[in-house]
Amino acid sequence: MLRYYALSAYFRQRFGCRVGKVPLDAGATCPNRDGTLSTGGCAFCNERGSGTGRHGAGAGLRAQWDAWRAAGGARGPRRHLGYLQSFTNTYGPAARVRAVLEEAAALPGLAGLCVGTRPDCLDDEKARILAGLPVGELWLDLGLQSARDATLERVNRGHTVADFVRAVELCHRHGLKVCAHLMAGLPGEEPPALLGGVALLNGLPVAGVKLHNLLVCRGAPLAAAWRRGELRPLERAQYADLVARALAALRPDVVVHRLAADPAPGELLAPAWAARKAETLAAVASALEAADLWQGKALDPGAPVPLWFDPGASPPPSLAPRAAAPDATPRA
Ligand code: SF4
Repeated sequence: MLRYYALSAYFRQRFGCRVGKVPLDAGATCPNRDGTLSTGGCAFCNERGSGTGRHGAGAGLRAQWDAWRAAGGARGPRRHLGYLQSFTNTYGPAARVRAVLEEAAALPGLAGLCVGTRPDCLDDEKARILAGLPVGELWLDLGLQSARDATLERVNRGHTVADFVRAVELCHRHGLKVCAHLMAGLPGEEPPALLGGVALLNGLPVAGVKLHNLLVCRGAPLAAAWRRGELRPLERAQYADLVARALAALRPDVVVHRLAADPAPGELLAPAWAARKAETLAAVASALEAADLWQGKALDPGAPVPLWFDPGASPPPSLAPRAAAPDATPRA
């Protein structure tokens, strides 16, 4: 049995089958790169902006969607969510954001959408656009990375913790599910700072989380500090222990979308272990087993292991479709 509420279990409960995500590049940019906030970007980001670069190579959303699904073959997942992953997908004029999102929502056979963005690139109009999309499953991937403003400033995020809290509350008012991103090993932070991020999320209407280990990527501003020996990424065992503690401190209804960063081919400089994600996930599983921890245990040590960690079980009541707030645009 899984010791945390994995996205795979959530999808099985929600759709009754395996569901995959198809990364989509809609040609978005980012205010932290185009000069609006800065041109350098976040210290850990490079010019790819977590994207596939397919838009720049001339492939529209439909072509990307068809190619990824075909590549999965008959053995791949039965259903797919589109994941607008590259850069900041709610940045720019609302009309453009609407056009891109509606094009994505109309992809044939789409089970739902995940939309990656920044907390300072959402407002009421864009939240209404998102809430009005004709998709049954919608997640907003919202980067926080650290719950400390000093760290956000140091890594040049260009937003504050308060911006993130405001964005989460806005999404909640519109009935949108937020998946928050946290990072461990950021410069200037002791590793347990990740637990502060988890504590912040526990108090917010956040439905999902991605935990990432800091990567030093080719072309990212952090690469220079790493080359000068000023930055030492976490060791795998250290990261696995930290994630096990973070999961134990996390509300048990929060869906865990990811437990380790995924470097794009050719971009990883350090740590070398991050290239072998399966081994990192195994290390996290071992750390949970060794300390007999599971998601939420630290919040309620006397409670039994929640059965809905299993793919076959019913989801927790808190993940039943949320009642829309009075001012929310109803979903189709
Ligand atoms: S990590 Fe995201 S917000 Fe930061 S520069 Fe890259 S695309 Fe922009």
